[in-house]
Amino acid sequence: QRRPLIAGNWKMNGSLASNHVLLSEIQSGLSELSAAPCDIAVCVPFPYLAQAQSALQSTSIAWGAQDVSVHEGGAYTSEVSSSMLLDFACRYGIVGHSERRTYHSESDISVAQKTLRLIAAGITPIVCVGETLQERKGGLTEQTVARQLNAVLAQIDGASLDKIVVAYEPVWAIGTGITATPEMAQQVHAFLRAQLAQANSVLAEKVQILYGGSMKPDNAASLLAMKDIDGGLIGGAALKAGDFLGIVAAA
Ligand code: 13P
Repeated sequence: QRRPLIAGNWKMNGSLASNHVLLSEIQSGLSELSAAPCDIAVCVPFPYLAQAQSALQSTSIAWGAQDVSVHEGGAYTSEVSSSMLLDFACRYGIVGHSERRTYHSESDISVAQKTLRLIAAGITPIVCVGETLQERKGGLTEQTVARQLNAVLAQIDGASLDKIVVAYEPVWAIGTGITATPEMAQQVHAFLRAQLAQANSVLAEKVQILYGGSMKPDNAASLLAMKDIDGGLIGGAALKAGDFLGIVAAA
């Protein structure tokens, strides 16, 4: 009963010119698919939010950001607030991506604060969790994702559970061409849903849990066929219209 969500995370890629081409190709490709079988979004770098808004506002494709400040506003050089994202009508905001956690030392607590900021602004947070290869090898996968998710759940009201999207992105699968097998991913997704159910068992069934990590057109269908995999958070393949549409068609 959960509608799949296929969301592109463009990361730090693109230009006004290349985005224009990519967004046009996605739109025209989508109009050739019989019916949009799923929710579709692109999460673009901050400077391109205005471009995404103007290109996509009359389409079925939503747009969003890749991060948000924990602060409401003020003297925080370079930060971008949730109200600024709302000015550009963002529907989604990614929080806690492993690249933010790794390269910018984002803590579980700040990810939780960012989640709260987005919920308060009416923007849907896409909360990313995932273990490193070392953690997986050490048998710490569930412990790691539980710690990351529960830091967020501790801050939000159980009644707001259906206002978030969760993305399971095993760090070792991001940008490596190595995907989790559908069974490996399903196991973690089911575990994450059980964690969500502890906050609110009814709403946990409604939460979209996306898989991210080298999802491509040729592996998307088998991943998306799993019971608790409700979509994808797509990096590299979101930068090529044909690949992105191939994943949309598999959903
Ligand atoms: P890739 O699809 O390039 O592996 O990236 C996944 C990701 O990090 C999406 O947020």
